[in-house]
Amino acid sequence: MDLTRRTLLASTGALAAASLAPDVLAGPGAPAAAGSGPVDLELVPMQLKLRHTWTISRNSSNEKKNGLVKLTAGGITGYGESAANVRYSQSWESGEAAFAKVKAAVAGLSPWEHLAWLERAEAEAGKDSDIVAAVDMALWDWKGKAVGQPVHRLLGIPSGRMPVTTFSIGIDTAEVMQQKVKEAAPYPRLKVKVGLPGDEANVKAIRAVTDKPIRVDANEGWKTVAEAVERINWLKTQGIEFVEQPLPAAMDADMKAIHAKSPLPLVADESVLHPADVPKLVGLFDGINVKLAKCGGITRAYEMAAIGRALGFKLMLGCMIESSVGIAAAIAVAPLYDWLDLDGNLLVANDPFKGLSIKDGVWALPDGPGLGVVPV
Ligand code: MG
Repeated sequence: MDLTRRTLLASTGALAAASLAPDVLAGPGAPAAAGSGPVDLELVPMQLKLRHTWTISRNSSNEKKNGLVKLTAGGITGYGESAANVRYSQSWESGEAAFAKVKAAVAGLSPWEHLAWLERAEAEAGKDSDIVAAVDMALWDWKGKAVGQPVHRLLGIPSGRMPVTTFSIGIDTAEVMQQKVKEAAPYPRLKVKVGLPGDEANVKAIRAVTDKPIRVDANEGWKTVAEAVERINWLKTQGIEFVEQPLPAAMDADMKAIHAKSPLPLVADESVLHPADVPKLVGLFDGINVKLAKCGGITRAYEMAAIGRALGFKLMLGCMIESSVGIAAAIAVAPLYDWLDLDGNLLVANDPFKGLSIKDGVWALPDGPGLGVVPV
């Protein structure tokens, strides 16, 4: 079967789920008025404060300005979160401008016309995929609330197969990182940022106080094939599980040489944004790290899981620094994935939403309607 045909077939599940009509989803007694009447759509800022300064190979930050999309119709409000990422030339300001265009383009649509919203949002938002994601999340949250069901149930996601999520240990002094490892005691798997000067000392400092499985993310921090191969071989000696994004995405062609020599699985992150990027990575990476803010939300993350699976990739689901809204949206599709890195809300000191619970690194699928989170 050719790739295009296989990709189309893989997408069918999400397309069908996204376009289910209310009379199919709702049992007797569901709110008949839901969806009738005007739709109010707004974007408000969410200023998130971080528990610790967050350092990766590109930059450091103490706080994050995300956006909360509120979609109200028929007396029900659905929430979605935008998390702009400077790596993709996104900012609060560019997101606000994209949102205004999206809002104008979807005027007059019912929330049940989900795919029409999604296609118009993608056409208008351009590089601001996090705005598309926020709108998609708000649609799913709204639909779930309208029929009184959690989003994961609308998607047909099986319970009982949630992978353990990693908890990220931010780069800091050896002493602080070791303290963070102690604070991460409830989490059985750790993630560490590399691709920075001092990698070896950082990994050794963490390894000195834990024997938990560790995954590393180079965030495009190595600049040549030789450097990446040398670093990956060293990481193999430290009991590392896999390596994310060794080279800049613009150097994807060089990944073939690294892939041929790497003793550890290699996972694409900055090299894979949208469903259409996935087939291009065959032979270059072993896995793909999907994030809702990159791909445009729950619907596209469902599609990417299907496409990635069909092409033989290991599937990882990651996140940005986000509140419980964005993480809840990822949790709704997380059981489709092999590896989870969903800790963005755990790094936030002033999460404006609640409703999620995690035990021994395993997120519970929420029971509440929609995304299962409510304002604090
Ligand atoms: Mg990454």
